Amino acid sequence: MSQIARLLSANEGYAAARANVTDRRPGRSMAVLTCMDARIDVFAVLGLHLGEALVIRNAGGRVTDDVLRSLALSSHVLGVDTVVVMQHTKCGLAGVTDAELRELTGADLEFFPIDDHAAALREDIELLATLAYLEPLKVIAGLVYDVESGELDDVIRWQRPS
Ligand SMILES: [Zn+2]
Repeated sequence: MSQIARLLSANEGYAAARANVTDRRPGRSMAVLTCMDARIDVFAVLGLHLGEALVIRNAGGRVTDDVLRSLALSSHVLGVDTVVVMQHTKCGLAGVTDAELRELTGADLEFFPIDDHAAALREDIELLATLAYLEPLKVIAGLVYDVESGELDDVIRWQRPS
């Protein structure tokens, strides 16, 4: 069976049995930014259920322009006041450079490689905390998920001064 046919077949069973969430605003007013890595089951890792959180994923779980676009909408349209930025161990963006990734891919892009998780989280969270249009955000947490143990490292916490 082709990859796509397998997906469509699986959906036949899903559609009838699925939980139906009508509110597009996440029930826990939360967005999670994390890596696209196939080993991270975001909802299971954080004990979240369908409808409770927005999930934004990209390579590395870094704050890129497109993440800012999503968070602007999350915070102003979808009621999000809490953001979790979750990087992870054994990430493909860790320990590499932009130059290496440009060479590897042939793409002249900014890849947001991670030299040090704490430093990268601090940089990304500082950006989120200081952008005027993200003023609705009240709490931002920076976590690192260990893909081997399944445990979370609670690295950075930011709260908007009241
Ligand atoms: Zn990753």
